[in-house]
Amino acid sequence: MELESILLPGIDDKRPLVIAGPCSAETEEQVMNTARALADKGVKIFRAGIWKPRTKPGGFEGVGSEGLGWLRNVKKETGMYVATEVATAKHVYEAMKYGIDMLWIGARTSANPFAVQELAEALQGLDIPVLIKNPVNPDLELWIGAIERIYNAGIKKIGVIHRGFSSYDKKIYRNLPQWHIPIELRRRMPNLPIICDPSHIGGRRELIASLSQQAMDLNFDGLIIESHCNPDAAWSDKDQQVTPDILEYILNLLVIRDTNQTTECLSELRSQIDEIDNQLLEVLAKRMRVSREIGQYKKEHNMTVLQTGRYDEILKDRIEQAEQLDMGGDFIKTILEAIHEESVRQQVKVINQ
Ligand code: PEP
Ligand code: MN
Repeated sequence: MELESILLPGIDDKRPLVIAGPCSAETEEQVMNTARALADKGVKIFRAGIWKPRTKPGGFEGVGSEGLGWLRNVKKETGMYVATEVATAKHVYEAMKYGIDMLWIGARTSANPFAVQELAEALQGLDIPVLIKNPVNPDLELWIGAIERIYNAGIKKIGVIHRGFSSYDKKIYRNLPQWHIPIELRRRMPNLPIICDPSHIGGRRELIASLSQQAMDLNFDGLIIESHCNPDAAWSDKDQQVTPDILEYILNLLVIRDTNQTTECLSELRSQIDEIDNQLLEVLAKRMRVSREIGQYKKEHNMTVLQTGRYDEILKDRIEQAEQLDMGGDFIKTILEAIHEESVRQQVKVINQ
């Protein structure tokens, strides 16, 4: 893939490249007030959603083309570049009419090859940078497919936005970061700029600073952060937007490490370890749930907890399996014994309830 390295003239490649602005353009006043404050803080690229994909009908669906005129005014008055989300061919034509400088494809759209293809055809022959958000589902191939469709339309200024992946279980994050996915994308497409969207990953403004730092430690190129002159009154995504003052504070706190190859690789690898440990814990918890169900079954059928024949069989099988996977038999035996002990403890608890 031969990409142009500069997305927009005059934007240097010093990390992080910062894109900031409200989730949605709401009123001309809100757009201008936010934009002026951000320009004062040195932000060079202003974002605002004009057409908003809403989960349910009845939510705020964006101000539509009228807002494009406000973005044109932002550009005229502050000199910032302006960026917005496009989801249909009509959005592309409208955005071009108003001189929008940069487009992004939202997470719901990049999950849909028909929609991406429609956008690719509308973009054919245009010279505009396009950022492609990861699809809502954690499918790297689908993300790469969207990138390839846009590239095949002749767009050479391409970047991606990592905005996390949706999950049913929303505990800490609104969208799970699953850092290993953008890291693998970087390995597969090393020249593609990666921009982190801590607002949509975190869903809460308190998480923006730490997620931004993590993205910088992983050598991501930029950050797209939702910023609003009055976040609590925002018409969409109010919990994940910050004032321009707070944005400046967050950016000033960032430690940008000089990425010599070794530390960069190390933090990528560490982040993979974190992810895998997470998965291990979840799998173990699932195993314990099943053990408790077995306990329940044994209780109902008046059976003993310990059935040694079964345990010996498990141990022998798993040790063979582990050795084939290049792990020591003794090591796996220790782990399985610990897991077994905990399973028995959990079953006994169920039986005695
Ligand atoms: C947005 O950037 O406001 C947006 C709708 O994001 P996403 O497509 O990541 O949900
Ligand atoms: Mn948003």
